[in-house]
Amino acid sequence: MPRVADRNNISDAEWEVMRVVWANKSCYSKVIIDVLEKKMGWKPATSKTLIGRLVKKGYLSAESDGKRYVYSTDTTEPESLMVEIDTLLGQICKRNVPNLLSYLVDKSVLTEGHRDDLIAQLREKEVTEKIPCTCTPGQCTCHLHVENSVLSERSNRPNIGSNHEERND
Ligand SMILES: [Zn+2]
Repeated sequence: MPRVADRNNISDAEWEVMRVVWANKSCYSKVIIDVLEKKMGWKPATSKTLIGRLVKKGYLSAESDGKRYVYSTDTTEPESLMVEIDTLLGQICKRNVPNLLSYLVDKSVLTEGHRDDLIAQLREKEVTEKIPCTCTPGQCTCHLHVENSVLSERSNRPNIGSNHEERND
């Protein structure tokens, strides 16, 4: 089986199936079908198709116990979540990551303990003077600043939706 990071990504629908398997460690398709019929309103055939895809992709293994198959996974939810996040981080400019972090903090429900841990983590975090942009030219406005003076002038105007403001504070 390929390493998790090398497998094809899990779709949103497949993720629903994986959550049932992660929660139950291993289970019959009936368990998956019941949970997702209730939550998503999916017909059994829909869940079965998704289970089949996940077996094909290598996320689920199916073991026969005579009449039925027992589905299990060699992945964990946190590990798979990190693969998804790594994929996302590979799709955005490094300079947008602080905004993403701030968005995540904003969206999070935290206890005082969690908040204190985060504050401590941020205090310890190594910082840099300027975040390097490693995007492919043409896929990020950072490069336009440098490589094309006409576009550079244009990008100096207030740019709604751009997250590329330099922060030196
Ligand atoms: Zn960039």
